[in-house]
Order: sequence, then C-alpha cells, then structure tokens
Amino acid sequence: MTSTDPTPSRVLVLNSGSSSVKYQLLDMADSARLAVGLVERIGEETSRLVHTPLTGGDKRELTGPIADHAAALKAVSEELAKDGLGLDSPELAAIGHRVVHGGLKFSAPTVITEEVMAEIERLVPVAPLHNPANITGIRTAQSLRPDLPQVAVFDTAFHTTMPEHAARYAIDVETADAHRIRRYGFHGTSHAYVSRETAKLLGKDPSEVNVIVLHLGNGASASAVRGGVCVDTSMGLTPLEGLVMGTRSGDLDPAVIFHLERVAGMSTDEIDTLLNKKSGLVGLCGDNDMREIRRRIDEGDRRAALAFDIYIHRLKKYIGAYYAVLGKVDAVAFTAGVGENAAPVREAAVLGLEELGLAVDGELNAVRSDAPRLISPEYARVAVAVVPTDEELEIATQAYALVRSGA
Ligand code: AMP
Repeated sequence: MTSTDPTPSRVLVLNSGSSSVKYQLLDMADSARLAVGLVERIGEETSRLVHTPLTGGDKRELTGPIADHAAALKAVSEELAKDGLGLDSPELAAIGHRVVHGGLKFSAPTVITEEVMAEIERLVPVAPLHNPANITGIRTAQSLRPDLPQVAVFDTAFHTTMPEHAARYAIDVETADAHRIRRYGFHGTSHAYVSRETAKLLGKDPSEVNVIVLHLGNGASASAVRGGVCVDTSMGLTPLEGLVMGTRSGDLDPAVIFHLERVAGMSTDEIDTLLNKKSGLVGLCGDNDMREIRRRIDEGDRRAALAFDIYIHRLKKYIGAYYAVLGKVDAVAFTAGVGENAAPVREAAVLGLEELGLAVDGELNAVRSDAPRLISPEYARVAVAVVPTDEELEIATQAYALVRSGA
C-alpha cells in the first residue's frame, strides 16, 4: 500500500456455525453495512447462499451443494466481488470472528495468533457445538487472506467481570477448578452493546447507570450491568442455564438429569438433545416462535398459554433477582427477536412490578420501530426500553478499534 491509498476501513464479520456462516461487510468510516448474507446447510446437497448487497442491486440466492466452510467462504467472496466488494480489496482492514467461548483468558477482542487458536481449541470441551465451527471459520478466512488481521470477539468476554460469588457454582472447588466448571455467560457482545445503547438513550454515560438487559431471542439470557460492568448473567458453563428459551430448558434441578438416566433409561447424549433442542417453548407447546404461540393463545390454545406463562414467570424471577443484585436499577432493556418485537411479552414481564418502579405504557409498547425507545410511562421510576441489538456492528467496531490501535 502506498501513502496515497485510503486507510482501509472495511471489516468483514463472520459468524460461523457447524453448518452455516452468517456474514456482514461493514465500512467503519461511517458504520455503514455494505452487504449481508448467509450460507446454510453447508455439507448437504441443498446448501443455500443468500446474499444481499446494500450498495444497490438485488438480493441473490444460490442453491446447490457447498461442500465445506472453505467452499462457502469462496462463494461469499465471489458474490461480494460481483458488487465490487471483493475480499481481495485493500480496503478490507480486518475480519472479525464471533467466537462463542473464550473462557476466562479473553476479556477483550483479540488478534488471532496460533497461541490464541490453541486456547480456543482448549475450550472445545466446554463449547463442543460452537468452538469447533468458529475454529473452522477462522482457518478458512486465514487461508483466504493470510495477510489480514483476524480478530476474535468472544461471546463470553463481557461477562468475565462477574465477581466470583456470581460466577462460581456451589460445588466442590477442586473438582470445579480441575474441569474449568464455572459460569461464563454468553451473548456478551449483545449485552455490552445494548447496555451501552440504553445509557445513551437515557442521555447518560454507561458508568452512571445500572441496567438489566433481557436478550430474548431463540436463545435467551439476562444480565445485570452495574455502571457498564457485567455483575451477573443467566447463562452458565454453557448456554443451557437460565431463562426458558426457544428449544432450551434453562434452569432446572440437576437431579432431573439423574432421574432421566436412571429411571427413564436415557443416555447422556439423549438428555443433552432433550434439554438443548426439545425443551423450552418447543418442548412445552410444540412451537418456539413467539408469533405462532401468540396466535395460538388468541385462538384459545391452553398449551400455548401455559408455555407463555412459564416463559414469563421465569423472566420475571430474573428481573427480580437482578433488581436485588443491583440494588438500584435505572433501566430494563428488552432486545433480540422476542424482546424487540413481542409487545405482549414485555407487558407481561413487568406486570405487577409497579412497587419496584416498573411499568409499561400500552401505547408506547405497541409502537413498532427499529429505533431504541422508551416504553415506560413518565411517572415510572425505572425506564423500560426496547433497544435493538446489533452484534455484527459491535464485533466490527471492536475488531476495527483493535486493529486501528495497532495492537
Ligand atoms: P433471534 O434469535 O434474536 O433472531 O430471535 C428469533 C425469535 O424472535 C423467533 O424465534 C421468534 O420467536 C421471535 N420473533 C421474531 N419476530 C417476532 C415478532 N414479530 N413477534 C414475536 N416474536 C418474534
């Protein structure tokens, strides 16, 4: 690059799953999204790439076998090149990777070296579904642009500030430490972004406010954030703990697992599948999409109504718990697919909590918008907010800041 070349300001964000890759290309000069897309069913005959250029041009869809992550990223690169946004561009500053589990070692975004890869690999036993896919995504991106900084942004990083009394399970300390068993928390980029945006909405610095963030998507988690610092979160060693989710049970008596093994004769893998994939809303009523559940409730479906009530009951318990953890709460922020869109969930979650200063204004709650907004009445002591999350922007922002700092 010569001194007349512009400073590279584009960041490609990759979120690699076991059979999918989600991607976004952003220009951090103005935080603009240039293209977004998704490759799914990698390794199957029916793979699909959906690419949406945001600089002009139509959404494109490609179907047909895509053998592996390397082929997927090559196909993505070709689609980007058609819009003049090829990954060989000198304008690309970094590739930011969402990495689910960073353990305790990574409390900040990190430029990926072989030592960093070894540590992500070492964490596979505590994130067997996620970290291997993240590793594959990183290796593929490295082979595509070996000259470029690859930055890992960890889902666990924001939660590494949790005090030990919140992070440690009450089990034998030696056993826990030998196997790195503790509460790590997930969705950290979302909790970090939303807690900061909530402070902005209140016209304050993050250090001045205490926020309960409710990230309610297909996966769901709550966090207690004091002055911009996470002090507790509902997910634990894995994303299974905490709230009722789309397909995960969240909290349950661990003895349920012994019971399923000893009395129901289920294997460890079967129980894992039951609790992660066939529980939560889908286990309770057969649907995990909140839109469908609300539609069924409106038609008088009692199973759907009970699933909704169980979901809300758990959510309310976490609001109460984190209120007590924080002592003083300035805002409760709803985010992600359910939190941003399902007004009945927001209304039910704070119903009856007026004594805690929490209330929702019916009219404000019914407004549909992509903007961060308050939905509490003026008299309420605690602000209730809807704050759309943007994990990709947060990953790109963190990755870009890191490479700009020359770290
Ligand atoms: P996420 O994991 O954040 O993408 O959230 C996905 C979930 O959001 C879906 O499973 C739905 O339950 C929920 N969702 C999305 N749109 C709506 C909507 N308009 N109303 C209610 N729930 C919604």
